[in-house]
Amino acid sequence: AAINVQSPDVPPSERRVSKGTNERPRQSAVLHRSLKSPPPQVVSAKGKYLTFSDGTEILDSTCGAAVACIGYQNERVKKAMVDQIDKFSYCNSMLFGHAIGEELADELIAGTKGVMSKAYVMCSGSEAMESAMKMARQYFMELNPKEEQRTNFIAREGSYHGTTLGALAMSGHVGRRHLFKPLLLPNVHRVSACNAYRGMREGQTTEEYVAQLAAELDRKFQEVGPDTVCAFVAEPVVGATLGCVPSVPGYFKAMKQVCEKYGALLILDEVMSGMGRSGTLHAWEQEGVTPDIQTLAKGLGGGYASVAAMMINHRVADVLTAGTGAFSHGHTYQGHPVACAAALEVQRIVREDNLVSNVKQQGELLGKLLHEYLDDHPFVGNVRGKGLFWGIELVSDKKTKEPFPPSAAISNAIFLKGLKEFGISVYPGQGTKNGVDGDHVLLAPAYTSTTEEIQDIATRMKQTIHQTFASLS
Ligand code: PMP
Repeated sequence: AAINVQSPDVPPSERRVSKGTNERPRQSAVLHRSLKSPPPQVVSAKGKYLTFSDGTEILDSTCGAAVACIGYQNERVKKAMVDQIDKFSYCNSMLFGHAIGEELADELIAGTKGVMSKAYVMCSGSEAMESAMKMARQYFMELNPKEEQRTNFIAREGSYHGTTLGALAMSGHVGRRHLFKPLLLPNVHRVSACNAYRGMREGQTTEEYVAQLAAELDRKFQEVGPDTVCAFVAEPVVGATLGCVPSVPGYFKAMKQVCEKYGALLILDEVMSGMGRSGTLHAWEQEGVTPDIQTLAKGLGGGYASVAAMMINHRVADVLTAGTGAFSHGHTYQGHPVACAAALEVQRIVREDNLVSNVKQQGELLGKLLHEYLDDHPFVGNVRGKGLFWGIELVSDKKTKEPFPPSAAISNAIFLKGLKEFGISVYPGQGTKNGVDGDHVLLAPAYTSTTEEIQDIATRMKQTIHQTFASLS
């Protein structure tokens, strides 16, 4: 049968391909996450609202993937980006420097109150984590070229550090790893996550739990070879995979002590929890520790540009400066001037408008309301979070904490219900079969949220969860 293609004056997006009389509906050429059913199309976004091609509007209560922290169409950010394009839209930042890059790095380092020394800007969280791994390795090679044996990393179960092979190797989330397991770096070793809901024994105190996890990390160093470990890697608040799980008080202090005992670095992945999301500019400020290497992304540029960063402290920077004097790494788009302009303006707005204290204040309200509305629900196992970063874990049995089977796709059902009936977006996360986690949904509202908006989000979240289970029963 002849293949008829419609006349060339029909735009490619509207063309249909027909084989004889059997017309095939046009398929999206985008490699969407689901190849079977393309997602709803966003046509515009303003403030905290997204509009889809069918005209529906939703309150973006997750800032996309915890990204659009100051909302959409901010005039100051738009202007800063255009001003930069008017000067120059790109330069090879491996060979040349530029003022906007210097200003952004100064802003970032100043935000750590001198704890960190240098910032390296690139495009995504995964890239930032890859560069953190290479930086840790290079640090030890420069410190003492005989330390060649430092090739191992210790990371945690249920974690997420990115989708590229190195970052995925560090990630402990079974579902995201399993297909690629044979390709992943073998030198990443794993310890338990710090998860009060699933990890603490009945009657165990926080101190006992922390001591247990510190002893486990210590044993892992011994098992792997104490002088072979580059770094221990963790998210201060586990985001997308476990669903907004903060650590218990004292956990990071105890972990850092173990790292120091063996001379290893502490890498904190603040891609999702950083830049104000947790109620302080850096989540580590609440943990009483400082990292040697830290990564940032989502809230850094608020979604105006694809931008991420890795920062290194003085210990690491001094060794590199005294050694080869160069980080052996490079990306074509590192230090992209327009991305730097966007991130700098977003960070200035966050600082000048005191948005991090608003995150803390509104976050307390959001947490209070979610507990009030959902703690008693028969299928809500746990409500937890920090700042404007809250997770709700769903279980089929509250007593045993048995997760729903993945086939029930509970978190996705909640996502769809919120989208279609209650006009909000929640961030769904599928649990894994190994009992480490259950399905969960996340909320990550904008830093600029008002009390009324937070009340509205909590109410819509309550209705969405209640109605999802009501329609399933
Ligand atoms: N680390 C963490 C903690 C993340 O949450 C993510 C993204 N969800 C990444 C790394 C990877 O970032 P990206 O998707 O920008 O590559």
